[in-house]
Amino acid sequence: MTERSLVCISCPIGCRLTVVEDPPGTIAVSGNKCARGEVYGREEMLSPKRVVTATVLTDSSTMRRLPVKTTAPLAKELIPGLLSGLYRMRVPLPVRCGQVILHDLEGSGIDLVATRSAE
Ligand code: SF4
Repeated sequence: MTERSLVCISCPIGCRLTVVEDPPGTIAVSGNKCARGEVYGREEMLSPKRVVTATVLTDSSTMRRLPVKTTAPLAKELIPGLLSGLYRMRVPLPVRCGQVILHDLEGSGIDLVATRSAE
């Protein structure tokens, strides 16, 4: 049996969840005030994901960094590789808000997009 205590981050209430896996693959969530907490607890135990927000260097001297984010939560194990790639990249301007900067991250179907336009 595996038991974890988590705080649900799906809304500002922040319910304290207890997530139990017993037997492996069978998840029970308690402490949640709504169904979103159950989904969150189950996903955190089996396959945690996060939306990644960051900035990347541009080739412009007037706007040095461009804010970016993933289009959906990305598996946590893919995030360190994504971030180390972002530290090394340089985006040519201009860029439109919503423009795809990196397509289909690690075959996940999730893109990295600009969150503002830059000339
Ligand atoms: S369980 Fe529901 S009410 Fe509680 S923090 Fe999560 S989303 Fe909010």
